[in-house]
Amino acid sequence: MKLKVISVSDHQVGPVSTTCPHCGNKGTFETIGKDLHVGGHFFCGQRVCPDPECRGHLFVVVKDRDLVFQHPPLRIAYNKQNIPVNIVKTFEEAVTCHSTGCFVAAAIMIRRTLEEICEERRATGKDLKDRIKSLKSKIVLPQELFEAMDELRILGNDAAHIEAKSYDQITKVEIDIAMEFTVELLKALYQYTSLLARMRGLKKTTP
Ligand SMILES: [Zn+2]
Repeated sequence: MKLKVISVSDHQVGPVSTTCPHCGNKGTFETIGKDLHVGGHFFCGQRVCPDPECRGHLFVVVKDRDLVFQHPPLRIAYNKQNIPVNIVKTFEEAVTCHSTGCFVAAAIMIRRTLEEICEERRATGKDLKDRIKSLKSKIVLPQELFEAMDELRILGNDAAHIEAKSYDQITKVEIDIAMEFTVELLKALYQYTSLLARMRGLKKTTP
C-alpha cells in the first residue's frame, strides 16, 4: 500500500495520511513535537491517530513525500470471531511476518495454519497434501478455495526448502495473495454459519 504524506516543508514534515495499525481506521495523523532531520531527504518523528477513542502513536520515517517506514507496521485486518484459538495464534504469526516484510516466514506460517485447520477438522493422511484431500470429504467449500489450499501448501513447501520447485520466488506479491486466500478460507470455514444464524435471528417469526 502506498502511504501518502500530506505536505513537506524544509524543516518539518506535515501530517501523514495512513491506516492506523492500532484501530484499523484511515486518518490524517497529526504531528507530535518536532520532526528530526536525519540527513539527506530523510525526516523521522511521531504521529498520533486522529480517532479520539484511539490516539495511537506512530513512529514514522519520511523521505521527500513518501512514508518509507512506520512502527508499528500495518497489519492486514481480519475478523477473528469463531476461529479456534490455535488457528488464530498461528495465523497471527503469519500476519506479523507479512507486516514486517518476512515473506518466506509468512509462507511457512500460512502452511502451518492449513495444518492446524486439518487437525481441527480431523482430516487425516500421510502428509498435508493427503490431509487436504481428506478435508474435501468433511467440509463444503467452493472448489477455488480447495485449489487455493493446495497452492498455499506448495508455496509453504517452497518457502521451507532452499531449492524451490514450483514458485520462482516468494515476495510480497505472492504473500499478499496467499494472505487474502487464507482470510477467505477462515471466513468460509468459521464465520459463514454464524453470520447466517445472525441473519436468521433478525427474521420475524412466522405465525
Ligand atoms: Zn487509531
